[in-house]
Amino acid sequence: MTDTPRKIIPLADLRYASRVPTVPALLPAPTGLLSDTLGRPLRDLRISVTDRCNFRCNYCMPSEVFDKNYAFLPQSSLLSFEEITRLATIFVAHGVEKIRLTGGEPLLRKNLEVLIEMLARLQTPAGKPLDITLTTNGSLLAKKARSLKDAGLQRVTVSLDALDDAIFRGMNDVDFPVADVLRGIEVAQRVGLAPVKINMVVKRGTNDGEILPLARHFRHSGAVLRFIEYMDVGATNGWRMDEVLPSSQVIARLQAEFPLVAIDPNYSGETAERWRYLDGGGEIGVISSVTQAFCGECNRARLSTEGKLFLCLFASQGHDLRALLRGNYADAQIAAAIGPIWQARSDRYSEIRAALPPDAGPAGGAKRVEMSYIGG
Ligand code: SAM
Ligand code: SF4
Ligand code: SF4
Repeated sequence: MTDTPRKIIPLADLRYASRVPTVPALLPAPTGLLSDTLGRPLRDLRISVTDRCNFRCNYCMPSEVFDKNYAFLPQSSLLSFEEITRLATIFVAHGVEKIRLTGGEPLLRKNLEVLIEMLARLQTPAGKPLDITLTTNGSLLAKKARSLKDAGLQRVTVSLDALDDAIFRGMNDVDFPVADVLRGIEVAQRVGLAPVKINMVVKRGTNDGEILPLARHFRHSGAVLRFIEYMDVGATNGWRMDEVLPSSQVIARLQAEFPLVAIDPNYSGETAERWRYLDGGGEIGVISSVTQAFCGECNRARLSTEGKLFLCLFASQGHDLRALLRGNYADAQIAAAIGPIWQARSDRYSEIRAALPPDAGPAGGAKRVEMSYIGG
């Protein structure tokens, strides 16, 4: 592995940069579905259930910043399962059909199965069950897959950046063995948390040599491997454009060994571009957040561990919904406060950065919340 030296940027703690939403005095008649200033609906809610993680992936939580002195959120700041479910119910009435639990590492949150059971009881206004998924580093999956499935989780996405044990241990930076994650994936498939999606963040010069080994491993397995461009998310990982391997090059490398054909998206707003192996080996995806920004269809909102609503992965300010939950407002009032927030949304960070020269670095300075806090 030829890992490029990291230039770590000190953390400007933006967790407290938020505003308390205005609750309108007159409640509008519930309109249900929302649309933002670019005509994008609200469909997907990502809920961060913890800002803690047992890994220190260098593109997400560099160990130099997230060290033993780093102050994670205290327990009293975290939304309770009842608070999360209450907000989720309001968001579902506003059009959310899909909930993804994330973090930090969501499987570190105690009794997560209880939350999943509570969320699995929710239905869309049309009476359909929600699509409930979870993104995990897989370290605890072998132990928990069965209870997660029994609680009502439908699918999992597992992050896996290398098949080679030394490269994997180097990237998670806590010496965690790849074999344990591979076992977690197998157990998830066995209990029916399928199809399992595998997310590989590709960093040029660090793990791009693992693209083909991972593809060979997961072909014909039923799992869907997705290659994610290394993003300039957060402000601490020292992101540089020359460490991004464009998805077009990922596809070219794969095509050289396995012929692929592009296939249609499953639904509008899907982040991954889908490809199918011509020999029937299954499908893969590429998520080109850097080289082919897809803000135009972005229907995702994020709820941080302490109940702040973020409208974009690259936002620098959240909307403090916990203040409303703990301020004795009724559900109708909170719903009426959330509506105008989404309706005023104009975020399209990745498209703006894509229009800058390649060596410009992240757009808008270094004031962005960390992904481990906001939820990936
Ligand atoms: N800990 C869980 C995990 O790793 O799957 C969930 C949280 S993590 C923040 C969610 C996803 O974000 C992971 O798939 C991770 O690889 C991805 N991610 C984190 N930092 C990233 C970056 N700088 N660029 C691209 N993807 C990133
Ligand atoms: Fe933890 Fe996931 Fe971030 Fe890695 S990507 S440090 S596993 S939160
Ligand atoms: Fe959505 Fe923001 Fe990402 Fe664009 S940059 S796709 S608006 S989260």
